[in-house]
Amino acid sequence: MSRILVGECPKKIGESVELSGWVDVRRDHGKLIFIDLRDASGTIQVVFTPADKELLSNADRLRSEWVVTVWGLVKERPENMRNDKIPTGSIEIEAGGLEILNEAETPPFDIHDDGKQIGEEVRLKYRHVDLRRPRLQHNIRLRSRLVDTIRQYLFSRSFVEIETPYLTKATAEGSRDFLVPSRLQEGKFYALPQSPQQYKQLLMASGFERYFQIARCFRDEDLRADRGFEHTQLDLEMSFVAREDVLNLAEGLMIDIAGKLGKQIKETPFPRYTYTEAIQKFGADKFDLRTAEEKEAGVLAFAWVTHFPFFERTDSGAWTFTHNPFSAPIPEHEEKLLAGEIESIIADQYDLVLNGYEVGGGSIRAHKPEVLKKVLGIMGFDEDKIERDYGHMLKAFQGGTPPHGGIAPGIDRLLMCFTGETALREVQAFPMTAGGKTSVMDAPADIPTEQLAEFGIQIRKKA
Ligand code: ASP
Repeated sequence: MSRILVGECPKKIGESVELSGWVDVRRDHGKLIFIDLRDASGTIQVVFTPADKELLSNADRLRSEWVVTVWGLVKERPENMRNDKIPTGSIEIEAGGLEILNEAETPPFDIHDDGKQIGEEVRLKYRHVDLRRPRLQHNIRLRSRLVDTIRQYLFSRSFVEIETPYLTKATAEGSRDFLVPSRLQEGKFYALPQSPQQYKQLLMASGFERYFQIARCFRDEDLRADRGFEHTQLDLEMSFVAREDVLNLAEGLMIDIAGKLGKQIKETPFPRYTYTEAIQKFGADKFDLRTAEEKEAGVLAFAWVTHFPFFERTDSGAWTFTHNPFSAPIPEHEEKLLAGEIESIIADQYDLVLNGYEVGGGSIRAHKPEVLKKVLGIMGFDEDKIERDYGHMLKAFQGGTPPHGGIAPGIDRLLMCFTGETALREVQAFPMTAGGKTSVMDAPADIPTEQLAEFGIQIRKKA
């Protein structure tokens, strides 16, 4: 006999089946023992009767979360014993055999409620147990469906999925980098990418025209419920496009995802605000357009914010970019930028807002070397620094790079909004604690002195 899933049992009434999974609960009714057997497809009631004494005494040992294989007959339950709350509620398995595959220690917490009352440290230490909870099973499976929908949508529109390196060069893109020491080149470091921004632009220079990647981004920033050290984004870039093309593509994608995942959108086309309008109307560039009833109904309220100021003053009074240095000014401001007017320049940049969160941002990029060089100059970078850190981009722009632009919706934040969760950890399989400790495995961790010696690294206390 070969294994079937719990979810297939309603179609197998009167047949003998083999099922494997976890003991969800065990109930001892004197002469009978019941277990709810749980696998990836659902739960089903299994009954052990005194007809087979040895089997019954074996079943008597079972406890929550033990892993078992059960052989038995699929039977309809008596009318008055049916449970119409679960898909297998009108049937049960009359057990004829049992194999215990793995005994389990008493679980550290109950997995049948939503688990939000349990301390984060404990939940993440035992994440493999926590993830068995139906809410998290739902969220992580929804995540997979979301990514599947994205891929289908983009592949059917001639996009190419391309991976770019995770070990790369540190560049000023707005956040602090995570650094990885090089063993072969002592004293030098790779940086983990804050986003694949430069690589995706280089792919446009390489003639791929429509690229995407489900990309991990690493940023050493202060942690918040909606921001972690690493996050996943749908990174995409298109050649020969203007702002409208990118917004339409991304808006169509969001509508398609919402439809496939059964979510209602408040308003299409998505309302649009310039940055100035958003600040005037909402006091912020991210805002929640839902009414109280819409919040309860899980409605998705998308909006676009466009026309951001290109530069802002830092605390020290110098100029810096508001989004990233690779944006182009809106076409009518290119001349002003090249002439060195800074204050009034508007970037051809856009943010996607959903239910109060910024769930994506992007821009039409500078593709002419003089425009990028001008921006870097305004930021106070001298020729040497520009050549050292951005020379490769300028080279590409001097070597036949088409006009291009893109966007990067954040998968984790989208999922938070789709599931109504308010913390990233509820939609990521192995998130970090608020203090930056990894789930299950205790990182960051000490490294033995001999291993550090391979990198020529010696630890000393920070001054
Ligand atoms: N690289 C940008 C970011 O990660 C997104 C983009 O401009 O496409 O925010």
